[in-house]
Amino acid sequence: METIKKITKARAGLVLSAPFFASISLHLKLKEDLECPTAYTDSVVLGYNPKFVDKLSNAELKGVICHEVLHIAMLHPFRRNSRDHLRWNIACDYAINPIVKEAGFSLPEGALLEDRYKGLEAEVIFNLLPKQFATSINLIGEVRDYKQDKSDKKSNTLKQQEKNWKITLTGAAQIAKAQGKLPAGLDRMIQEILQPKFPGVRSYPDSSLRMPKMTIHGLFQTKGICILVCIFLRSILQHLEL
Ligand SMILES: [Zn+2]
Repeated sequence: METIKKITKARAGLVLSAPFFASISLHLKLKEDLECPTAYTDSVVLGYNPKFVDKLSNAELKGVICHEVLHIAMLHPFRRNSRDHLRWNIACDYAINPIVKEAGFSLPEGALLEDRYKGLEAEVIFNLLPKQFATSINLIGEVRDYKQDKSDKKSNTLKQQEKNWKITLTGAAQIAKAQGKLPAGLDRMIQEILQPKFPGVRSYPDSSLRMPKMTIHGLFQTKGICILVCIFLRSILQHLEL
């Protein structure tokens, strides 16, 4: 089967069973790209290498599409800042692959999954990862930064693109939820992304650079001290910014 037909069929197969994933994926333009080893998204296209897609089963392909959708649902194309691209991708994959599995989808062999990172945000995982990786590490679906096309007057700025996606994600989540087809865990994570309780944490490019003796991995885990920790972090960050 022609690769693009295989992807179209997989996306269509998500419509009834997983409307949130289906509707988000339908916003992405399919783009064949032989230079990409697997697949990627930048919030505009869903790029794919036919050689990678052709080897996948239909179930795995659905899983890869959901993986890329989750990169967008978690706003990963807008959140990297100055972080290392590979390390950021690894962190993002550890953040979203458990959600793909919990939603009942398959992932290709080698997909990054570790229980210790489950439930953590990409920024937090990023700070827990080693700084160096083997370049051969297996990313089943890359996330790339959104880049405005300056030659196209209709092309959105990064802020506008992020804002538009938040509106689209909110609508898609509401529709899927009304149908009873938005997994509870995913619903909670999307709400946290769209209406973060601690928005300041994400706005700093790499907290480990600014706070060499501090880690923030406990911030979202111990709710009782969250507010105090947040106030403490903000006061330090404000001080460092002066
Ligand atoms: Zn990925």
